[in-house]
Amino acid sequence: MTDRFLSIHGHFYQPPREEPFTGKIPREVGAEPFHDFNEKITAECYQPNAAEGNFEHISFNLGPTLAAWMSTWAVDTWQRIIQSDRANVERFGAGNALAQSAHHTILPLARRRDKIAQVAWGIASFEYRFGRKPEGMWLPEMAVDLITLEILSRRGLSYTILSEEQVQGEVHGDAGPYRVRLPGGGFFAVFVRDRHLSDQLSFDTDRIADGRRWLADQARGRQGLTLIATDGETFGHHQRRGVQLLADMLRNDTESAYQIVTLSDYLRTHPPTREVEILERTAWSCNHHLGRWDRGCGCTLGDHSWKPILRSALDLLADEIDAIYLYELQRLFGNPWLLVDQYIDVVLGIADLGMLLRENTAARLTTGQSLRIGKLVQAQLHRQRMFTSCGWFFEKLDRPEPRYVIAQAMRAIQLVKQAVGTDLGPDFREALCAAKCGRGKAIPGVPTHTAADLYDEIAVANQIG
Ligand SMILES: [Zn+2]
Repeated sequence: MTDRFLSIHGHFYQPPREEPFTGKIPREVGAEPFHDFNEKITAECYQPNAAEGNFEHISFNLGPTLAAWMSTWAVDTWQRIIQSDRANVERFGAGNALAQSAHHTILPLARRRDKIAQVAWGIASFEYRFGRKPEGMWLPEMAVDLITLEILSRRGLSYTILSEEQVQGEVHGDAGPYRVRLPGGGFFAVFVRDRHLSDQLSFDTDRIADGRRWLADQARGRQGLTLIATDGETFGHHQRRGVQLLADMLRNDTESAYQIVTLSDYLRTHPPTREVEILERTAWSCNHHLGRWDRGCGCTLGDHSWKPILRSALDLLADEIDAIYLYELQRLFGNPWLLVDQYIDVVLGIADLGMLLRENTAARLTTGQSLRIGKLVQAQLHRQRMFTSCGWFFEKLDRPEPRYVIAQAMRAIQLVKQAVGTDLGPDFREALCAAKCGRGKAIPGVPTHTAADLYDEIAVANQIG
């Protein structure tokens, strides 16, 4: 048996597709003959990979929004995936699933308080779905900073995955694990993926005729652990032959170039001794210090001036929502933010909101107070969802993803208004006016279409006055 090790990590994720006002997934163009992309990608990727047994041998994370959908609409596939993690726990004493922060928010761009909520919700969702505590956490887009790693560490997590271009120091061409020094003391473990191999498998799959031979060719001169990490949908959805290719590569026998391992298991037997530094505010799919989701960058073509405007409009709105939240709750609750962290149990359907409120205050709440506070807590959920990274991922503002984040903002605004009567809508709409859509050609004398027009369209579609 070789002493070279290989782990293949799949990041399985779909954005939330439900309309925030109805909770229903609309029929999606391009998904035909399926109703929507969740169904289509399940048929092409999740289901066949689960049936093939691939989930048992890879390392993987499956985003909370996708897990929520799959556990309702693709129950057999979901059960097989859960069972794969359990089989690893039984065999090695360590599962192969990682948690993921809740809403695919770019954590280094988020406020400290939002980082805490996203991580807390990601852990709670994982524990509910997988029935155990997570050891590792996937960071959306691998976007990293030290504060985020410190929060993961404080919440009891042990490791994450980064790409080789995000670290510097004693990296010797292997995946580690390495340790990163935290500003508050102590260390956090990171596995470092091989970017070249990961990209080749993801984007150059056609050139890989035989997965096992490809791995053997790459194995020469390597030592320790090699990590390939990519979108899980590569296997079957982006690349049709990916399911079988993956199954071939995962087969462990005496002729394998590598021993196939999972990350939690490997970490136990190989605690990190070498230290690296992370390059803060970097990600795996943008080389411009998170510009893709912030000020705009060369990763997307065309006019991306709308990106910082949309983000700052949402940041301002979040400030307003939080100010009202604290003003209303501070008098009654010792720690109003703890209530937000615990609200995930209501979202998951394992706690009752009334009970949660009673547990967090010594005050006897009237029915009116409970209703009002309940709406403000619910507004915090939509306020979190409005920062999902897909809103900024593409070049155009006039796409479903930016519409989704604006719609989430509007749902939060509606709940705040119902709770306390304050209408945050006009200021938010005003802040959107400068974000140009680029829809059609600018005609002299005709006003340009902006994000405020999208706001109006969403308002009409959902009959919001
Ligand atoms: Zn970029």
